Amino acid sequence: MKKYLIISFLIIYYSNTYAQVTIDHVEPPNWWIGMKNKTVQLMIHGNNIGRTDPSVSTKGVKIKKSHKAGSDYLFLDLQISGDLKPCTVQLSFNDDRKPLATWNYELKARSQGSAERKSFTTADNIYLIMPDRFANGDPSNDDMPGMKERSDRSNPNGRHGGDIKGISDHLDYLQKLGVTAIWCTPVLENNMPHASYHGYAITDLYKVDPRFGTNESFRDLVRDAHQKGMKTIMDMVFNHFGTEHWWMKDLPQKDWINQWPDFTRSNFHGVSNIDPHASKFDKERMVNGWFDNTMADFNQQNPFVANYLIQNSIWWIEYAGLDGIRQDTYPYSDQQFMTSWMKRLREEYPDFKVVGEVWLNSPSEVAYWMDNSPNHPESRTFLTNVFDFPLAFAIQKAFVEDDGWDTGMGRLYDIVSQDFLYSKPSELVVFADNHDIERMYAVLKTVDNVKMALAFICTTRGIPLIYYGTEALSDRGSLEGDSGKRKDFPGGWAGDKTNMFTTQELSNDQQALYQYTTKLLNWRKSNKTIQEGVLTHYIPENGIYVYFKTLGDNSVMVILNNSNKEKNVETKRFRENLDGFRNGKDALDGTTIRDLDKINVPAKTARIIELSK
Ligand code: CA
Repeated sequence: MKKYLIISFLIIYYSNTYAQVTIDHVEPPNWWIGMKNKTVQLMIHGNNIGRTDPSVSTKGVKIKKSHKAGSDYLFLDLQISGDLKPCTVQLSFNDDRKPLATWNYELKARSQGSAERKSFTTADNIYLIMPDRFANGDPSNDDMPGMKERSDRSNPNGRHGGDIKGISDHLDYLQKLGVTAIWCTPVLENNMPHASYHGYAITDLYKVDPRFGTNESFRDLVRDAHQKGMKTIMDMVFNHFGTEHWWMKDLPQKDWINQWPDFTRSNFHGVSNIDPHASKFDKERMVNGWFDNTMADFNQQNPFVANYLIQNSIWWIEYAGLDGIRQDTYPYSDQQFMTSWMKRLREEYPDFKVVGEVWLNSPSEVAYWMDNSPNHPESRTFLTNVFDFPLAFAIQKAFVEDDGWDTGMGRLYDIVSQDFLYSKPSELVVFADNHDIERMYAVLKTVDNVKMALAFICTTRGIPLIYYGTEALSDRGSLEGDSGKRKDFPGGWAGDKTNMFTTQELSNDQQALYQYTTKLLNWRKSNKTIQEGVLTHYIPENGIYVYFKTLGDNSVMVILNNSNKEKNVETKRFRENLDGFRNGKDALDGTTIRDLDKINVPAKTARIIELSK
């Protein structure tokens, strides 16, 4: 008798479990009223949720359409009326009108001026931080329950414990350095077993990695940075996501990702996405091949994926109060999708900017992606900014080679001369290194060369970007590969001997470079002519590259002496820019230059001169 009782109990138990409806994920986790676009598409995931019929009982909100996707997913298009006040939307998931599950979905009020937010401009000095490698503000989060990789600072490819608090704690340092905008490599959850520190294999697009902090701490970082006059640019990755994402256990739709019979890697030849002669074979592999076997490739042609990603970016802008986005691996994504994303962002935020990582070698390849490119068949990409990779590669060579027709300063001149390819050259983000290419000190070898490279990126057209640790003269040391480009920032960890934050134990060279960077960035921050002026440059001769920035009656003259000799530069051939000016002031050392006919420039030095009448 007892046996039968147990069996019938088990039958009831299991049949109930089978019928059980759960809600495990609702994304986006909330939305806002007063958006230009009045619909939001929710992804609802849970046991048997796809077998229910949803309904809504809140006035002013309608279910425009629901899309079933397998038994465990439901996509819900909510239509929000224009005059709705912030509220909690009651959602019900029913079977024969009997609710099997309910969900309270919050529609919040937007912060004031959200739609009119301004982005980074040519007035900004951007500073790039890898949060795991900058400063460990909270050692208690180095290892977190449920996270697959533990911290190990002795492993150059491991997690080192840096976090958001480490950045928040040192905002004063950044402000003093002259930084006006911070770009952090991705902060979202990367619950991958290896190399999770870099952040580019996201496993939850709505959650900050607990080893970096919380969503709230990221939002607070943006707010605190704003209070100190600094903007925040969030790194987003639309091309791929980490294979440890919960989706991979049960994909929302079969074509949520680009699937191949066998693992197929991208060919990494970004140009095949725009090459008029490219074979379908190459183009397909470039865009739909996987970036890595740990990074699943989003199928952005799937309209549900497209909606998901577009809403995700809007969610973070609204939630965290972002000032800009850096978008990863831009040419690896579906072009049409990226255009529709940018268009939608600009509709919602007319002044918002995105800088695309278009890591290609020549100006023509990079220029193609900037909005209104003269050479793009459709010309509209709506992408506002791109990184100037060709110039970065030129800088890494120019200061360590002799000057010739196409070497040394000729290299910089040659790249800048091709600005006719860009619709807006001033929107190029100019840099000499980042987390993926060699650090400038590792290739430029001397402090003088690093100073000249810094002076150049801060005075030519565009928006300068400084990679964390540049001012500390960080080098790759004996480390191989990426780890040599991503060393811990000196002073970010308790017990670090050299400490940039307190300037303890800095070498003379570090001291000199730190002071130089601080002076240069702070001067740039306050000089409108260098930020907005029109660039005129002259053909380099004998290692001397001269250019001017002109704004109204004001002019700044820059002389780069890339030779190993001190030069007294005759200025006759620069007359069209010098006429009317009587003397000048060195922007960095404050000395007055009384004779503009002949200007002394020490070997391997940049002189930045504010001209006066
Ligand atoms: Ca930590």
